[in-house]
Amino acid sequence: MTTVVSVSGGKDSTALLAFAVVSEAPDLLAVFADTGHEHPETYDYVAYLSDWLVDQGHSPIRTVRADFSGKIARRRAYLERIAAGEAENQRGAVRYTPEAAARAAEAMVATGIPFLDLCVLKGRFPSADVRFCTSELKVIPIYEQAILPALEETGYVESWQGVRADESRARASMAPVVDLGGGVFVVRPILRWRVEDVFEAHSAVGLAPNPLYLGGVSRVGCMPCIMARKDELLAIARRWPEEIDRVEAWEERVKRASKRQAASLFPTCRGRGVGIRAIVGWAQTSRGGKQYDLERLIGPHETGCSSIYGLCE
Ligand code: SF4
Repeated sequence: MTTVVSVSGGKDSTALLAFAVVSEAPDLLAVFADTGHEHPETYDYVAYLSDWLVDQGHSPIRTVRADFSGKIARRRAYLERIAAGEAENQRGAVRYTPEAAARAAEAMVATGIPFLDLCVLKGRFPSADVRFCTSELKVIPIYEQAILPALEETGYVESWQGVRADESRARASMAPVVDLGGGVFVVRPILRWRVEDVFEAHSAVGLAPNPLYLGGVSRVGCMPCIMARKDELLAIARRWPEEIDRVEAWEERVKRASKRQAASLFPTCRGRGVGIRAIVGWAQTSRGGKQYDLERLIGPHETGCSSIYGLCE
């Protein structure tokens, strides 16, 4: 049997990793799915967790990545054929002109950054309704690069996930154990844990939490996640403006690869504007999006700890 523990660099998966070590989970394999859209602090933190794991007598965390270079090359060749006059063979209300296909072909180049390459390939960013990022960047790479090889070796795999019921209604309805068939089980050992239990698990084994929590983010993952709240986005823009610059450059690149010549990380809504820069401006406004809210902008915690978990108390 192999225990595959998915590690994201967030508090819940770190608590899960601590629990797996303390409970002596058999043949522990910790896996990190790198989306290429994480904050540098998260990469450092995963390295810190990996070192800790080695100190405990386990293998280091295995990093897995989705690779879209083959699909991008095929898509580019297809676009080049349309640019040369071949008829488009895909359905859709919007058709490529040869000029638009030539422009999209030029942008259709793999960078090796999984999140960006996936969006360039699809010509759009994921959204709450079309959330292809989790499956393409995390679920499939972990399955193909960690679970399947372990299954071939040991014939039985438990995939441990650090989800908790009190995070959302969807998670509250999840089962603690799911049999996926073929010798693979999903196990959720911390499903009933509270957030206090999670941080206690960190300190019980001497692990510090990811420092990003001190910067005001409530979730560690993509920076920013497509599901980020207004407050989180504001915290990111204030503390890590370079992440906003990076996303703005990505938007430009995905836009060039898209059929409609439009792409933004967050959906375009009336009153919010288009693109990450406009959304950050909107995040600085009070309800209704018209007036700047000075308390939000300057903030009583501008220089202090703004962790919503009070980690510096
Ligand atoms: S953290 Fe957010 S943006 Fe990243 S893969 Fe998950 S849902 Fe998508």
